Amino acid sequence: MKCTVQGYPGEMEARKIVHTFMREGQPIVVEDLPALVCPVCGYTVLDLEVLDILFTLDPKIASPVGQAPVFRFPLISTPLPSS
Ligand SMILES: [Zn+2]
Repeated sequence: MKCTVQGYPGEMEARKIVHTFMREGQPIVVEDLPALVCPVCGYTVLDLEVLDILFTLDPKIASPVGQAPVFRFPLISTPLPSS
């Protein structure tokens, strides 16, 4: 499948991506999500089936496999620990 972004010649590749979205004000991170990604412009397409699974994901019921640090831009720089 060709990339649908005008002017970009990329051929979409099947990849596993890390996808982040907001649910009730909280960021949710999903790893190993199957997607089609254009290697030229980064345009990403998810299957409707995959989107349905994401819509039904309830973070209060599902068990997370890990925790991710969350940062907000602009980043506040902290001095590196001196060794
Ligand atoms: Zn593209």
